[in-house]
Amino acid sequence: MTNSVKIGVVGVGHLGNHHAFHLSKIKEANLVGVFDVDQAKAVIIAKELKTNAFESLEDLISNVDAVSIVTPTPTHVDVAKMCITNERHVFIEKPIATTTREADLILSLAKKHKTIVQVGHIERFNPALLALSGLEITPKYIEVHRMAPFMSRGTDVPVVLDLMIHDIDLVLSFISSPVEDIYANGVSIMTNSIDIANARIKFQNGSIANITSSRVAKDRVRKIKIFQQDLYVTIDFLAGLSEVYKAMDAHQNDPQAIMSAPLIGKDGKNRQIFYEKPTVTKKDALKMELKNFVQSILGNETPLVDGHAGRQALDVAIKIQDKILEGHK
Ligand code: NAD
Repeated sequence: MTNSVKIGVVGVGHLGNHHAFHLSKIKEANLVGVFDVDQAKAVIIAKELKTNAFESLEDLISNVDAVSIVTPTPTHVDVAKMCITNERHVFIEKPIATTTREADLILSLAKKHKTIVQVGHIERFNPALLALSGLEITPKYIEVHRMAPFMSRGTDVPVVLDLMIHDIDLVLSFISSPVEDIYANGVSIMTNSIDIANARIKFQNGSIANITSSRVAKDRVRKIKIFQQDLYVTIDFLAGLSEVYKAMDAHQNDPQAIMSAPLIGKDGKNRQIFYEKPTVTKKDALKMELKNFVQSILGNETPLVDGHAGRQALDVAIKIQDKILEGHK
């Protein structure tokens, strides 16, 4: 195995441009070229990054070991199929596909051809979340808000598959218990599909997640609140800020405590609430996830979000979307 991965980007629109840029900077990656059905876009970015603009997907595939797929979601399955059957590793932007059937096809082909599938659930690489890596997260209740101003980009799929799926993936990564039940509602405001959605997911272990997503908002919001035994954690994915509140045994009026409410533990001991702000090391999440992909191909790491995790998030997202549509009948 060499210590560099020959890689190409398919789809250099809004996000694909950033993929190409970061891949051109990652030491262990050799950005061989890009392909876009809009050839003019491919030529511009290839010129900028001093790489090739291929005229077809086949051309790109025959020159690389791996492909980053950043095309509109409905096209993921066909592009991935072509790459995987040619034994190329694939990084697929989220959501992995539009149906679980398509996702299953991608996963079965990848198994057959022994290729890596990683999915672009970028929030897993958010520095504010990574700052909490030393903390054991065992939520009883999670409250999530994700809001974004309206843009026509991304509206080829409902808000659940565009925005909420980020939080579905996060919630599934925090709660390791099967989903027991889903309640969901949503409305369309700007498009013909659902633009604002709320989902309550109940897990078999009793944990609950309440997720609200909207693509009709004035300001962007990406916040998670996690409640668990003696612990409350807030993560602001946009501001890059994590805060932890812990209830712990303490001497009366401990100066480190932020609140000296009369909390008494089961054993009768005095308890107080302590505040921590973990140090967040600023890093580009997209660069980190692409590095994780490249290092996984080199055999040094495994994908933090593999194809199965991408499929699981899609499965729950589709169930939520179906529940919303049921409510509209
Ligand atoms: P975009 O429309 O800006 O760009 C898509 C590009 O793909 C266009 O340049 C288009 O010409 C090209 N294209 C279309 N079909 C193609 C094909 N079959 N082969 C090659 N090129 C093709 O879209 P975008 O906003 O960059 O989104 C692309 C993907 O990234 C979507 O799946 C979207 O859900 C995902 N996305 C993820 C995040 C994230 O936070 N991880 C954010 C935005 C978009």
